[in-house]
This record gives sequence, C-alpha cells and structure tokens, in this order.
Amino acid sequence: MLKAYRVPSIGALLNMSDIELLSLRNVGKRTLQNIDEALAEEGLSRGSHSAEAPRAWIQKLLRHIGDDPDREGLQATPDRVLKFLRDFCTPKDFRFTTFDSEGYDEMIVQTDIPFFSLCEHHMLPFFGRAHVGYIPKERIVGLSKLARAVRYCSAGLQNQERVTHAVGQMIEDQIQPLGVGVVLEARHLCMEMRGVNVHDTWTTTSRLTGPFRGTARAEFLSFVHRCEKQ
Ligand code: ZN
Repeated sequence: MLKAYRVPSIGALLNMSDIELLSLRNVGKRTLQNIDEALAEEGLSRGSHSAEAPRAWIQKLLRHIGDDPDREGLQATPDRVLKFLRDFCTPKDFRFTTFDSEGYDEMIVQTDIPFFSLCEHHMLPFFGRAHVGYIPKERIVGLSKLARAVRYCSAGLQNQERVTHAVGQMIEDQIQPLGVGVVLEARHLCMEMRGVNVHDTWTTTSRLTGPFRGTARAEFLSFVHRCEKQ
C-alpha cells in the first residue's frame, strides 16, 4: 500500500516530520492521512521515536505466540525487554589499568569469574565461569580488570568461542604478556530448555598462547580444575 505513494520505507517514514513528508513528491495532506492509516495497521505510528516501533514489534511478537500484550502482567513487558537488551548488548567501557610488573614474571591466575551472555543463535542465556591467567612481560593488570574484561567481552549476542578468544585478545592487546590462558565453562539454556534438552552439561572452551601451550599449560589447568562446579 505504501509503495503506491512512492515514499521511503516504513523505517524512514517513522522518523520524518509532517513537513518533511509533505515536501516529498506526490504526498498531499490526504496522502499523509493514508500513510498514517497504513502505519497504524502495522501497529506503528509516525514520529514515534526509536523505542516506539520496537515496542510495537514486541507486542506483535507476544500476540504471535498466543498471548495478550494488553493483559496486566505484560503491559510493561516490551519496555522491560527493550531496556534489558539495550543495556545487556552495550558493553560496559572501563579503563584497563596496568602497572609495572617490577620484575614479577610468574603466572597470575584468576579463577571462577562469573559471566552471563546471550547465545546469538537463540537469544537464550549461556552462563558460567571464566578462568583467566597470563604471564607478564613488563606490565601487570589491575586485578578487577580481568573480571571486567570477561564482562565486557560477554556482553551482547555471542558464542562461547568468540568470548573466550576476545578475553585473551584484550589482555594481549593491553599488556603484550608472554602468554595468556583463558578457559570458559558454561551452561547453555538453548541446549537445556529446548533441542536435545540435556541438563547440567558444561561446555568448555579455551584460548592458550605462548607458554600456556607448553610449559605453563599443566600449571594453569591445575588451577582451573581445582575449581568445583556446582
Ligand atoms: Zn543457542
């Protein structure tokens, strides 16, 4: 219906003012009314800024799965979902504080760092623990920054392999250590709630570089294995 008026896409229309729309060829006041009616059929409205259209999509989704977006418990749900997704998918920036290693050249390991992420295939959570180690060359990392790096890299829609790789890469980029070891152990709700429906299955991924591939491997993994899973 909208195409007949040779106007831009619905997405573009949503952000146009009346004056902008009227300046388009072939769009008169009556046409404007028609456009609004066409948008209303889609559950959308012009001038509704960013959150408005996604909110309508979520309401539509709720209807699609057979629920009633107007019932009390669901009225604010689209806003909550949007807020959660916006917050969770925006990595929390932080200052990656580093210090002179002052000659310290042994392994530094932090275990059992909890993390949460969303699997990009199903948008369902995967979560667990990260174990991060490195051997410094000249710089060491402020301890809380390892946990922050894990949180930063697990934000948004991810797969476990990518998060594992990204954590190691971030440490390498920041302090150029002799090597890094990253192990992630996670439960994936997309495996547990659906599909094969297996419970309490842990998926382990790792990134080991430099000495962590050789001489430091056993020592690092002994720290990791010491951690009891619940
Ligand atoms: Zn999945």
